[in-house]
Formats: sequence, structure tokens, C-alpha cells
Amino acid sequence: REAGPEARAPLSPQEPSGPPPPTQAQQKESIQAVRRSLPVFPFREELLAAIADHQVLIIEGETGSGKTTQIPQYLFEEGYTKKGMKIACTQPRRVAAMSVAARVAREMGVKLGNEVGYSIRFEDCTSERTVLRYMTDGMLLREFLSEPDLASYSVVMVDEAHERTLHTDILFGLIKDVARFRPELKVLVASATLDTARFSTFFDDAPVFRIPGRRFPVDIFYTKAPEADYLEACVVSVLQIHVTQPPGDILVFLTGQEEIEAACEMLQDRCRRLGSKIRELLVLPIYANLPSDMQARIFQPTPPGARKVVVATNIAETSLTIEGIIYVLDPGFCKQKRNKQPTSFQISSNQRAGRAGRVAAGKCFRLYTAWAYQHELEETTVPEIQRTSLGNVVLLLKSLGIHDLMHFDFLDPPPYETLLLALEQLYALGALNHLGELTTSGRKMAELPVDPMLSKMILASEKYSCSEEILTVAAMLSVNNSIFYRPKDKVVHADNARVNFFLPGGDHLVLLNVYTQWAESGYSSQWCYENFVQFRSMRRARDVREQLEGLLERVEVGLSSCQGDYIRVRKAITAGYFYHTARLTRSGYRTVKQQQTVFIHPNSSLFEEQPRWLLYHELVLTTKEFMRQVLEIESSWLLEVAPHYYKAKELEDPHSKKMPKKIGKTREELG
Ligand code: ADP
Ligand code: MG
Repeated sequence: REAGPEARAPLSPQEPSGPPPPTQAQQKESIQAVRRSLPVFPFREELLAAIADHQVLIIEGETGSGKTTQIPQYLFEEGYTKKGMKIACTQPRRVAAMSVAARVAREMGVKLGNEVGYSIRFEDCTSERTVLRYMTDGMLLREFLSEPDLASYSVVMVDEAHERTLHTDILFGLIKDVARFRPELKVLVASATLDTARFSTFFDDAPVFRIPGRRFPVDIFYTKAPEADYLEACVVSVLQIHVTQPPGDILVFLTGQEEIEAACEMLQDRCRRLGSKIRELLVLPIYANLPSDMQARIFQPTPPGARKVVVATNIAETSLTIEGIIYVLDPGFCKQKRNKQPTSFQISSNQRAGRAGRVAAGKCFRLYTAWAYQHELEETTVPEIQRTSLGNVVLLLKSLGIHDLMHFDFLDPPPYETLLLALEQLYALGALNHLGELTTSGRKMAELPVDPMLSKMILASEKYSCSEEILTVAAMLSVNNSIFYRPKDKVVHADNARVNFFLPGGDHLVLLNVYTQWAESGYSSQWCYENFVQFRSMRRARDVREQLEGLLERVEVGLSSCQGDYIRVRKAITAGYFYHTARLTRSGYRTVKQQQTVFIHPNSSLFEEQPRWLLYHELVLTTKEFMRQVLEIESSWLLEVAPHYYKAKELEDPHSKKMPKKIGKTREELG
């Protein structure tokens, strides 16, 4: 749809017109006024009638029309939560679930966690009273484990359906099934894009309810030539917009925390140097691990005379709407599960551009060429289910009693090979028996809200009597990659601090070491500051650790410590990750089973040691296939922990006599 005559004049965001701050009653009134101004509001009655008439309704409406914040409230007002019934609204992203729940709680004038709450992995902000539950799609999936028919829910709204995350896709299949034998359950599928026909067809031709959007035209600009350093290009462009363009806030899309923090630092730095030569520029980051008070800041109105630049992950593509954005800067990258890559979908680029045209005509600057847009980006999203590993969900579906996965009702089925690979891996981990049935161990693994390999590692800590240490390793791995702080002006200090944590054996033990020392400091933030460790990440690790510890009893693992015998810790890790092993050959590292060429990440504590055998937590593809978080192991351990998977013969070293001392470049050579 083009911007049509329906586009109305922008609302002025409650300007504080005089010195007296608004009274509570006035605030309440202005919140209600904002609610009534949203595009969905005129359709309130019609929408409720359609929901009453149909069990499944697909709702299509542009981002910012009020789907996420308003529709659950309408249902609440209409009485869908009588008799203690609940309404679930799923979000693919944690930040969105938290932020939206906070907003709705405020609109309803209740405390977050009372009537309105959110539930994300490792964090539950709900109570007995909570009837509007915003949750990640992954959390609703886990609800099926305890309540397979979702009996306590009157409405399930699968939001941001167009994102086609793995968990959302699986939810579709499960919910469709539940809806069949619970005719009173209402199912809403909300999407920001036009691809709603697919959903309608899948749900037996459910009707589509369209909320007409208002949108202003957006002019799109491309670069003439590809940018070599897009981060630098971004920073320069923001400043250019700030200096040359009329008022209006800027939204920049980057791929993740590290990049966002770097960009914000660069921007602040340059603004400081320009001093009073430019108008005030408020630089605000938004990404998943950002504390919620910081997240809330992006929604505060920009003070007159200043300009706001929000540097965001693709959360701001459709999940969050920030008022007042006129300029969008799109470098054209996003993070897929395994690596950074071009946004790759035109649909995504168009969503990003659309963010500039919500309150007035806007501009979108794309840091790639028009040619790239036409030729290098695919038109629509490839569902995550078709490009990710499925171990987790297969385990979950198996524990829900769904055995025949080949015939599960998928919106788009995963590739046969991926499914097979997942089954094979679960079999190797001992979660499934040779008939593909869930084993006792598999049932326990499904209880833990982490990847199967991580679950297996935790279960194995019982045998090696080191669950205390393994819990810490598991928690630290869950906040992976954001432990160490490396400010640009203190790189040498930061790197020294990191090296001081090194322990023989590898990165998992380094993580353990960091956490243990932090715990000994009394979980101090000062300690983190002095050691270039990110306090926020550590606090999160502590939360995760507590949650996991609380689940140990359920999976029959007792608390025990290795008392400094790290071999036991390493063996327990190997019991979970024997699937991820590599050995040093004459031509560098090769994965043991697939013979894939891989490299130790330069940040690893083992980068210079180059042990013969190792396991890795994950592979990341940047310039090469890098192993991140590596641990030195002995090949004999593989036979000990996975005799069904490894044969002694394949672990022999054919050229063990003549091994070069070191292979590959040193850290210095890599620069
Ligand atoms: P949709 O789901 O259709 O994209 P939303 O319900 O998320 O729309 O947003 C409706 C309006 O609520 C938007 O104008 C948005 O700016 C506002 N809003 C959403 N979350 C917040 C928040 N945390 N603080 C302030 N305003 C918010
Ligand atoms: Mg929404």
C-alpha cells in the first residue's frame, strides 16, 4: 500500500507546554489520547466482532499501528480474561516482550508483573494475577510441556509472525492442533507485512483482518560505491544528517551489541570534539542485553532543539516503534544465527526504510548500492526453520509426544537433512534411543531450557562430581561474547586483564575463573570495572546460574564441586560437546567427523598453544570458520564419554611423530 489520503497529520507528542508538570489525571488522559490516536483504534469494535466470529484470525497492519500493545488490551476490556483465563502474546525477541509489557502496564496503570507481565528465558516477571502475558515465542513453546492444551489461555496471539522464527513456526503447528480440540480458544496471528495469505491458507483459510496504515513517503538514497568500513560510514553519515538536515530523529540499524556500543562511542567522541559547534545529539543504543531502564530511554521525547539518534539491532525493524524518526540509516547488514551477512532480503530493507515515514515524510540512506539492492538481496525471508539446527525443537517435540516429525504440520517444512541431522545428534547425545524414542536422559535434557549439548554437559556433571563448576560454565556460555570489556582507548590494559584470567586447559576454564573471582569479590561491580569485565553480563550470568541451579533437582543432579580437579570439569564438558571436536593436522585444524577446516579464534586463550585435540563451543564464520570458546581435551576422553560415537581407530594420529610445533599465524602476525 502506498501512502494515501488516509495519512493523517502527525500527532504532536505530548509537549510539556508549561512549567507545572502534568498531574496524574492529566497523564492518564494523555495516555488514553495516544491510545485513541493509533491506527487500530477506529477498528476496535470491528476487530472484536471478527474475533468473536472466528476462531482463527490473521491480523495484518503496519508497524506502529497498535497491534501488540492494543489488541491484548481490547481483549482484556472485552472480558476474555474472566475466570482467571490468560492471554498470551508472543514476541520473537526478549527486548520486545519486556518493553511492550512495560508499556502496556503503564497504559493500564498497573504495576509490571501484576495484571500485565512478561516471561522470557531465565526471567519471569509474572505472578498469579498476570492475565496479559507477553512472552518470547520460545517460552510459549515451553508452556506446552507443562500444559499441552494451553487450557489456562483464552487467547493466543502469535505476533510478528512475518519474522518466521523457528519457535514461531513450530508454534503454528502446535496451536493449529490445539485449536481443533479447543473450539473456544481464540488464535490471532499478527504480522507487519503483506505475506499473510500463507498464514491464512495454513489455518484452513482463516480470514485476514487488515488495519489500514498511515504512511508518509520515504525518499531512498543509495551510495555510489560499496562502503569498505560501514561502521565508520555510518558514524560519518549520522553526523552529516545531523548537521545538514532539518529536525527529526535518526534510526541506525547495526548487527549487535559490540557494534552498537562501538558506534555510540565513536559518535559521542566526535560530538564531544565538535563541542558547541553542533546542536545537541542524544546517542541512544538499543539491543537485547541493555538494562531495561536504558531501553526505556529511547522512547522519551527528544528535547526541543536536540536530535536523537537511536542505534539499534533489527529489533527496531518491526518489533519496536520509536516516535519521531525521520531518517533511517541502513548499512544493509543483519545478524543471522551464525554470522553477519547482508540483510539479504528486500522485504527487510523496505521495513527498515518504512520506519522513516511514520510521522512525516522521511529519508532512508542505504549504505549499499542500488545495484546491490536489486541483485544481491532476495525478495523475501527464508524461514529460520530452513537454515538453522533443530536439535532443541526436535527434543521438545519428542517430549510433547510428537514422534513422527516427518509428518508434523509445518508451515514450511525444514530440509529433510537438517531434521535427520538433529535426530542423529540427539541419538548420539543419548537423548533418543535407536527407535527414535525419548530416553530418560532425553526427558531430563528437555527439562533444561538450554541447547541439548549444554543440557548433556550439565547432566554429565553428576558423574564427574563437578556440578558447581559446570553450572558456572553453562551460565557463562549463555552470556557468551560479552564478558570482556575492551574500550578503544585502553586496549592494552583490557587485553592484559583478560590474559590474566587464562588458565591451562582453555577458554571454558577462563570463564569459570572469571566468575569464581567475581563471586569471591562479593559480586562487586568495582571488581568488574578494575578487571575490564562487563558487570551487566556477569549479573546476567549469575541469574542464569541461579535458575539452572534451581532445576538441578528436577534432573536429578546433586550439587558437588571438583575441588580444583579441572580434568573432571573438562570431561563433563566433553560429554556434552564431543560432537564439536577438532584435531590438529599438518594442514591445520580439521573437525574430527566432517573434516572441515577450522581455526582457533584469535581471542582464545589457546590461540598460541595450538593443542592437538580440542573441542569448541561454536563455529563463527567471519573471514574464516573460527572456533569460539575452545577447550583442550585428550582423545581418550572421547572414547570414555562417547564410545558409541567414536571408534578408537579414527582417533589415532597417523603422523604423530612428525608434528610441526606451531601452525598458522601468531596473534601478532594477524594484527
Ligand atoms: P505494532 O505492534 O502494530 O507495531 P505497537 O502496539 O507496538 O504497534 O505500538 C503502538 C504505539 O505504541 C507506537 O506508536 C509506539 O511508539 C508506542 N509504544 C510502544 N512501546 C512503547 C514504549 N515502551 N514506550 C512508549 N511508546 C511505546
Ligand atoms: Mg508489534
